[in-house]
Amino acid sequence: MTLFQRSIRELHQMLVDREISSVELTEAVLGQIDAVGEKTKAYLLVTRELARRQAKDADERLRANRDVRPLTGIPIALKDVLCVQDVVSTAGSKILKGFSPPYSATVVERLEAEGAVFLGKTNCDEFAMGSSNENSGYWPVHNPWALERVPGGSSGGSAAAVASGEAIAALGSDTGGSIRQPAALTGIVGFKPTYGRVSRYGLIAFASSLDQIGPMTRDVVDNAILLQAIAGHDPRDSTSSERPVPDYLSTLRNGVKGMRLGVPKEYFVAGMEPAVEQAIRDAIRLLEQQGASIEEVSLPHSDVALPAYYIIAPAEASSNLARYDGVRYGYQAEGAKNLIEEYMLTRQQGFGAEVKRRIMLGTYALSSGYYDAYYLQAQKVRTLIIEDFKQAFEKVDVLVGATSPTVAFGLGAKTQDPVAMYLNDIITIPANLGNVCGISVPCGLADGLPIGLQLIAPGFREEVALQVAYAFETATDFRKLQSPLMRAAA
Ligand code: GLN
Repeated sequence: MTLFQRSIRELHQMLVDREISSVELTEAVLGQIDAVGEKTKAYLLVTRELARRQAKDADERLRANRDVRPLTGIPIALKDVLCVQDVVSTAGSKILKGFSPPYSATVVERLEAEGAVFLGKTNCDEFAMGSSNENSGYWPVHNPWALERVPGGSSGGSAAAVASGEAIAALGSDTGGSIRQPAALTGIVGFKPTYGRVSRYGLIAFASSLDQIGPMTRDVVDNAILLQAIAGHDPRDSTSSERPVPDYLSTLRNGVKGMRLGVPKEYFVAGMEPAVEQAIRDAIRLLEQQGASIEEVSLPHSDVALPAYYIIAPAEASSNLARYDGVRYGYQAEGAKNLIEEYMLTRQQGFGAEVKRRIMLGTYALSSGYYDAYYLQAQKVRTLIIEDFKQAFEKVDVLVGATSPTVAFGLGAKTQDPVAMYLNDIITIPANLGNVCGISVPCGLADGLPIGLQLIAPGFREEVALQVAYAFETATDFRKLQSPLMRAAA
């Protein structure tokens, strides 16, 4: 097995035992980026020099046995929506082309403190708006399982990098499914923590009441390790929670015996591919065999989650994106005759079609006269969705369903039909609106393409989601499935 196919946990042991150095490991991963990067296009920027410097520092730390942490020397990729000081960070948008932030995101600082190695910035849908990575202002990402297919989105580059061996793990962000759905479509583990669990300071905002940063890894243990490193209160993000962060690894192996799992009947949506439904039903049966009790539950407002999301998220986006005016950041249009024209030209040329669509939808929904009919109404629906989850979690510990109704679809298959694209997130969006957490774990293949099982736990009960995910992962062999791009290197 090559180094870049291994897990964080294995590599950590090898680093600590001096079997390998972080420099060696980092070169192995950079080598895989060289070998397959042109195929996946997962990165917008590979920070080779930074990675090599950090790897050397990590090796010193390891050699001196000084403050060695679980991520010391581990090469990690960062979604391009995360600010890294003096490293170009564009959120996948042309409007931020060449923009280097003057400060780093809190999660980035935390990983630096751990001694992690940064491989670069991964491709994503522009400002994280999309489900296929085709809205990137630069280029689409190709799924390492089938290059003519999408990797999902918006954290498609992070997902493809982890699935192809171009990173050991990655961070993504999830506003309506952007960690879980690409994780499902590329056969990896992706976790959207509860809103407030991870600081959003330095995350380029899409929809501020929904955005969360989370870990994308090859297995559940790695996911717990990475979450542990980034979770916790941050005085620089007033929405980050002060609740103490539990030790995620200590409860991981507690199993599902005696746990109550709920299957929301609304999550078997119309249009779900039969092979996906079959894999989910098989996974539920397996969890039952492991000792969990299964009961059907109802989340009655699931059908209005998608329309409410497509009011709330664009409304917040329209406000957040007002700051890109050509004066302060990144791209500036040339030839404007006055300031107003400069704003207009910069935004016309700098934003892509989907971002413009959302700004218009959001501005309309917030405008006086329409505010009550759209934005206020959507907020009321959000309250009902929060109530749905509360009621369900009185009866069960965790909710189980699919992550995505389909496996990875072809590049270009849905680009002409925004509504078909939006429907991808029909079962991931409720968790964002409902202030709960959700993880996607691999649960099989259909025609050689990965399927994801979604486990949803109550707010701030990440450890419970991880516990069920781990029980499922260890009861199956799905974790061993590797994308053809990764396998080829074995
Ligand atoms: N696909 C959804 C959207 O386009 C969710 C994106 C996300 O979670 N960032 O808005």
